[in-house]
Amino acid sequence: MLTIDLDAVAANFRLVAGKLSGARLGAVVKADAYSLGLEPIARTLAASGCADFFVADATEGMALRALLPADRIFVLNGPAADALAEFSAHRLIPVLNDLAQVALWAGHVRAGGTGQAALHVDSGITRLGLPPSEVDALAREPERLAGVALACVMSHLACADEPGHPANLRQLESFAAARAKLPPAEASLANSAAVFLGRQYHFDLVRAGGALYGLAPFETRPNPMAAVIRLEAPILQVRDVDSPMTVGYGASYRVAQRGRIATIPIGYADGFMRSLSNRGSAFLGGYRVPVVGRVSMDLVTLDVSEVPAALAVPGAPVEVIGPNHTVDELAGEAGTIGHEILTSLGHRYVRRHVGGPHSLPGDRP
Ligand SMILES: *Cc1c(COP(=O)(O)O)cnc(C)c1O
Repeated sequence: MLTIDLDAVAANFRLVAGKLSGARLGAVVKADAYSLGLEPIARTLAASGCADFFVADATEGMALRALLPADRIFVLNGPAADALAEFSAHRLIPVLNDLAQVALWAGHVRAGGTGQAALHVDSGITRLGLPPSEVDALAREPERLAGVALACVMSHLACADEPGHPANLRQLESFAAARAKLPPAEASLANSAAVFLGRQYHFDLVRAGGALYGLAPFETRPNPMAAVIRLEAPILQVRDVDSPMTVGYGASYRVAQRGRIATIPIGYADGFMRSLSNRGSAFLGGYRVPVVGRVSMDLVTLDVSEVPAALAVPGAPVEVIGPNHTVDELAGEAGTIGHEILTSLGHRYVRRHVGGPHSLPGDRP
């Protein structure tokens, strides 16, 4: 059972918004709101006062438009030649990431399409966005943007989650230099972590994702965000074991002494990563229970030898993610980040949304 606390999402929105003075807080809801459910998350955020939303592509944008008739929806990956009509029909605001996308969108506008777009300049992440040479070309030939109303000029930080990293200030300067060459427009630079770097990173519009969903902005500091998800799985079977038995595929775990192993119905097909084999942990009745053996597609084996026998029984709920074991802790064990844990949460989990605005349509029980 995957429980998603919409009141925690609303509280996180308020907490992040409270850090801003002047800037508006936009929400990144790409990838089905980081797998937490686009509809309940978007409705919760809209009810909290969010009016600017970011998705990855037009398909996500159209799904969101059906839920939010009035809000601004930015499409981060930009316009696609075969989807220009969809952008206009659903009033999606493309993020223009290079001169080719600028030309595509400007041509569409001149042919009668809607005009708004965001312009993404690369200030140092080397991923998407106009590189400095293209910013210069645009500065020399501003008519390339003729007819396009710039909703904002944006950029994205590579190292925002490392507060002391020199790349942050370098990107701040490079962003300012690019903006000075471009037509005046609102600016957007900060993701979740950058909100906590300080006011100079906030500009007009913030694009927060992970923090709204409870992820820690910085690995190295206490997490100020409210936990949003709880993931529990019932024990399927408990086995008595003793040396020289082994557990799981590849016999990678050798039992050293008498003990008990519990199996739960979660596996890598559900996003419980195989890298957690012999490394991850969960909690049962408040006791940490280590993952032993390899993670299978649909099953995980846990050493419950230290747990009182009355607690380690079939049907008992194991806390995979929860107050004892946060998303970020599980991510650390898996050698990844909380974002990947969230977006990998499988489709087999029954998602139960609790709290949230009262206008929410009934969830699956
Ligand atoms: C995904 C994304 C964000 C959100 O990042 P978080 O770290 O989850 O807050 C912001 N901006 C861009 C361009 C993104 O791709």
